[in-house]
Amino acid sequence: MCGIIGYIGHRKASEVILAGLRRLEYRGYDSAGIATLDGKIRVIKDVGKIDEIHKKKNFLQLEGNMGIGHTRWATHGGVTPQNAHPHSDCSGKIFVIHNGVIENFEKLKEELLSAGHRFTSETDTELVAHLIEDARKKEKDFGKAFEKAVGRLTGSWSLVVMAEGEQAIYLSRNGPPLVMGVGKGEMICASDVAALLEYTNQAIFLEDGDRAEMHKDGFVVFGKDGKKVARKVHAINWTAQMAQKDGYPHFMIKEINEQQSKVREALAADVSEAVGLLKNQSSIAVVASGSSYHAGLVFKLAMHRLLGASCEVAYASEYPYLRTGKEKVVVAISQSGETADTLAAVRLAKKDKAKIIAITNVVGSSLYREADARVVIGAGPELSVVATKSFTCQLAVLTKIAISLAGKSALAGELAALSWEIERLASRSNEIKKIASALAKRRDFFFIGRSYSYPVALEGALKLKEITYLHAEAYAAGELKHGPLSLLDKEVVVVALAPSDESLPKTASNIQECKARNATLLVLSDSEELLSKSALSFRMPPCSQLASPILYSIPLQMLAYYMAVELGRDPDKPRNLAKSVTVE
Ligand code: GLU
Repeated sequence: MCGIIGYIGHRKASEVILAGLRRLEYRGYDSAGIATLDGKIRVIKDVGKIDEIHKKKNFLQLEGNMGIGHTRWATHGGVTPQNAHPHSDCSGKIFVIHNGVIENFEKLKEELLSAGHRFTSETDTELVAHLIEDARKKEKDFGKAFEKAVGRLTGSWSLVVMAEGEQAIYLSRNGPPLVMGVGKGEMICASDVAALLEYTNQAIFLEDGDRAEMHKDGFVVFGKDGKKVARKVHAINWTAQMAQKDGYPHFMIKEINEQQSKVREALAADVSEAVGLLKNQSSIAVVASGSSYHAGLVFKLAMHRLLGASCEVAYASEYPYLRTGKEKVVVAISQSGETADTLAAVRLAKKDKAKIIAITNVVGSSLYREADARVVIGAGPELSVVATKSFTCQLAVLTKIAISLAGKSALAGELAALSWEIERLASRSNEIKKIASALAKRRDFFFIGRSYSYPVALEGALKLKEITYLHAEAYAAGELKHGPLSLLDKEVVVVALAPSDESLPKTASNIQECKARNATLLVLSDSEELLSKSALSFRMPPCSQLASPILYSIPLQMLAYYMAVELGRDPDKPRNLAKSVTVE
């Protein structure tokens, strides 16, 4: 899930690439490297985060107007300086960066080794440089040699390549995202538009099977068949400013605070295409991963409860085993629109002749392009690895779709006050900080809720474990007594979500059951009675059931954030994770 970037133009390449890598670091951050051409190609790479390496080795000593850069999330080979990208061929003249996995790498590596090639890393990536080196023996044209090399690969990749003696950067995409930005006298490519915005908003999203060449003054794209193709240039309406921290210590807390305006905008999103496809459909499936899956569970509940419509939700990675093949419409939810598991599920559903609805944050992403209908959630760039505003914006558009389908426009009014309520909740950070410091020494957390609060409990637990590395799990509140209650004692914290809806009396009983086992309770509720009986509590505003998933998510995000800060973790870059999960 690495971040990759390439630049050719009139600026100092190492500056552009370093700035871009900082924007892409959420995609992987165990090691990083930059190569630029300044007569010869010179490389600086090492393990660690980008700025740590920069401090030690100074990337900006690399001169030249053409270069490539990489921030890694290792799949093949340990986190070592040798395994950091860029990787080169035996001659040290061809350099490659890669996002993805070359599945037939062992076989190809053996072949290259017996042909006399010397490898300096354990990665699957390095063999691409050697394959090009080999292909060049017969093929003078670098682009053609690259095409030959890529033709031998199976697996998934976004590859960016440069070589001494070539005034171009070479790209190939098969799976992980790769977008080119068209500037004036300069071209830039990266895994994510966030790295281009400083220079251009004109973006071309390469498609699977595409190969491209970027020159200072333009580009060419070749399709699967090797012939030149025209690809649409999208004007991206995000700005570079949107991808800054704006004085906040972390992107995560900035993004939490953006939710009041982003959710309001998401509620105004155009959902008509999606509603058109879903109308009168009896066989609907939702596919998603991580936080998006939790948003899918809320959608399922809304579809059941508002329309009486059946709607199945599957982890995208489990969809191959769960599908009936008779699904008529599949709603695919992915912030980046590049989640490999979700795209694989979508491609299966398409084979079954299902129509696809994309719920995504990224215009032009693979999911966006492959879908029959799209809803753009409009959260803007989300640079913290964990989902916050993208989750609540997904909830907003999915709830709007369910309300529209149910023809209950009066219900939309129940969401009208959301933006203001979110702002009020986000402003209560001092209360959450106190709770976070009271709980920071605890190691085990259970999140419980019923009805719409159950998916929110799942999301709250996910958020906490992602960025604090504490043990957190979620249960439908009624399920505790069927097993997990045996784990409770005074060391365990139970975070109970208890809005005053029809499930409250039963949730209140479940809370009592936890108290009886001496668990430490943190209750989030608008019920005076419950709040007054809890040592730790957070008062929620009364709200409609449809608004509650969004509202209850806010303090849970803040709790995870302040716990992480309290424990000295980096909430924006949790260990072992990366944001846009482009491997299956
Ligand atoms: N397979 C490559 C490596 O391990 C790239 C990993 C990735 O894209 O996440 O270095």
